[in-house]
This record gives sequence, structure tokens and C-alpha cells, in this order.
Amino acid sequence: MFRTVESGLLNKPVSAPLQAEFAQHEFERLHRLCLMTFAASVGIWLVFDLLVSFKGGQGFTINSILHLALLSALTVAVPFIQRAQQFQFLNFGFVVAFCVGGRLVLESMPDDTRAIWSILVAASVLFGASRLPLSPRAFFSVFAVTWALLFPIMPAHDLMELKGIMVLCYSLYFSGITAYTFVTLWRAKVQNFVMAKTLLQQAYVDTLTDIPNRRAFMLNAGSLVPRATAEQDHYLAMVDIDNFKKVNDRYGHDIGDEVLRHVAARIQLVMEDCQYARLGGEEFGIYLKGMTRAETEIRIGLLCRSVRDMPSEHPVTISIGVARLVDGDTLPKALIKADEALYDSKRTGKDKYTFHQEPGQPEGSP
Ligand code: GH3
Ligand code: MG
Ligand code: MG
Repeated sequence: MFRTVESGLLNKPVSAPLQAEFAQHEFERLHRLCLMTFAASVGIWLVFDLLVSFKGGQGFTINSILHLALLSALTVAVPFIQRAQQFQFLNFGFVVAFCVGGRLVLESMPDDTRAIWSILVAASVLFGASRLPLSPRAFFSVFAVTWALLFPIMPAHDLMELKGIMVLCYSLYFSGITAYTFVTLWRAKVQNFVMAKTLLQQAYVDTLTDIPNRRAFMLNAGSLVPRATAEQDHYLAMVDIDNFKKVNDRYGHDIGDEVLRHVAARIQLVMEDCQYARLGGEEFGIYLKGMTRAETEIRIGLLCRSVRDMPSEHPVTISIGVARLVDGDTLPKALIKADEALYDSKRTGKDKYTFHQEPGQPEGSP
């Protein structure tokens, strides 16, 4: 099953909005890694700068201080970045600053070690970039600027010598393998993201009506239940289509399905700011958070009217049972109460709503 779904998805191109959603998701997951990579780069920069300055006898100049300040400022900015796109620009700036600084230090090193060190610095930058949440475009921009600034520095005649050839071969090998693994892993990660999103969608959205299903309702509305307090009332409504069997019997199942979609669309319209779902069959659940009893009555009454007046060749009505959440209620408990109130609506004529009465509670109280 997994393989069937997977192969179906692998053959489809991933749209630009989905790619952007993936980039944002990956950035949020790897935000700390971004900060750590930047901080480690500043740390290693400082160590090498100090070594070259004091052990190498070149002195700790104002340039070193300015450079460190720039890299540190870019690192401090990372926690404040919220969008993947912004991070790609910040990272590009960081890499440019790092490579320019690297180039300046390399220029002042002895000839025989310069080429090796330029490869080491470039390889470290590319490795770091290949682990960060970058788009292919951002990665290849980093790739280009790294090689433009850190291409093995050696005299032209050395390029034909054994050392020069080995350095070039290694540069090509490392660049190739880094670019190839980046692209392959990026593609695999995007496909996994699309697959997880598709499967989640299928698990939590009702295929017939395209609104959330019972599983989604139990999760979303369930998370709201503990927030029902003395200051803020929450209500749970259970909706059932009246005489729906007759619709199926008279016009067929396809028309029944169409009616279900229309009712779901009405719920979606009227209850836009609430949690709602198709609980199963022709039953729907609605969770109204932070409403007074009067506001709930207005909203529920509006829904009944909206379905009743729906322009359709197959008109239907709905009955609703409403329960107020009280201390100690869980979602399943509230569903039972709403179901009891729904049964009262059905028993006393249908096409109406009824509030559940708590034992000992005077009629009409919240
Ligand atoms: P009442 O007014 O008491 O609710 O009567 P009713 O006819 O609506 O009775 P009931 O709620 O028991 O009927 C539910 C019917 O809904 C039975 C089943 O055939 C139909 N049904 C359940 N799921 C679907 C579906 O996905 N599509 C269609 N077309 N019908 C469905
Ligand atoms: Mg029913
Ligand atoms: Mg029914």
C-alpha cells in the first residue's frame, strides 16, 4: 500500500507552493541547526584567526575584529529569522563574508600550503551548506560564490604539477559529490514531505464532503475542552439530517451523497470560525468556543434556517442537539449529552434544536 501511494506521488511534479511550504517546514525543524552551524563557523574562524595572527605572526588587526563582528552579527540575527526565504539570504551573506575573510587570510599564507587550505575551507563551507535547509537555488548560489572566492590558490605552473593536479581532482570530486548528494537528498525530503502531507490529509479529511472527519474533530475539539472555564462557555452541537433514509430510497445514493455535501458546505459557511466535522453517516459535530448561550442559539438557529432554505431539488432539514460543557466533561461525555438533546429534537418534531438540560438545572438557563 505504502509503495503504491509512494510510486503515484513520485511521478508527479511538486508544485512551487508545495516546495515553498516544504522549505518553511524544514527551516522551522532545523532552525537550531542553522544557529549552531553559524556559531561553530564563527568559533572556528576565531580560532584560526588567532592562530594566524599570533602563532603565524601576522598580528590581530582591525580587519580581523571587523570581520568577526560582522559574522557574529549575522549569527545573532538567526534566532530572529522566521521565514525560510529570509534565511537563504542571510546564509548567502554569511558565506560571502566567510569566504572573503578566508581569502584574505589565505593570501597571506606561505605558497606551499595555500592551495590545500583553500580546499579545506571551501569543502567545510560546502559541507555546512549542504546540511542546512536551503533550496537548490540557494545552495548553488553558495556553491558558486564559494568556488569563485576560494578556488585553489596556486601559481599557474603548479596546476600542471602532481600537487596541482591532485588538488584539482580532489576539488572536482568534493564539489561533485556534495552537489549530487544535496540534490538527491533534497528531492527525497520533498517527496517524503508531500507524502506525509497527503496521508495526513487523507487521515483527517472526509473524502465525501471535504470537511474534517471524526478523527480530526476528536483531536481539534478535544484540545479545546480543557479551556472551557467559568468565564468562557463552550458548546457542542450534534447535527443529524432529518429523514435522510427517504432521500436515499427515493432518489438514490448519489443524490444522498450530494445532499450530504450541500449540508456540509452550509455548516462550513455558517460555522466558519468553529471546529466542525462529519462524524459519520449523516451526522456532523460542531464545537462552539467562547460563546454565550444567546450567541450559540443565534448561530444554531441560523444553520437550521440556512439548510431549510437551501436552494435544492432535494430539500432537507436538520435537527440539532446542543450541550454546554461543564466542569469534568470530556469530549465523549459532551457528545453523549448532545446526542440525547438531538434525540429530543427528533422526538418533538425535527427541524429544530434542543439544549441538553443538566439534572437540577432550570429550563433555559445556560
Ligand atoms: P431521522 O430523521 O430520525 O434521522 O431519520 P433518518 O432517515 O435520517 O435515519 P437515520 O439517521 O438512521 O439514517 C441514516 C441514513 O444515512 C442511513 C444510511 O443509509 C444513510 N447514510 C449513511 N452514510 C451515508 C453516505 O455516506 N451516503 C449516503 N447517501 N447515505 C448515507
Ligand atoms: Mg443519523
Ligand atoms: Mg437522520
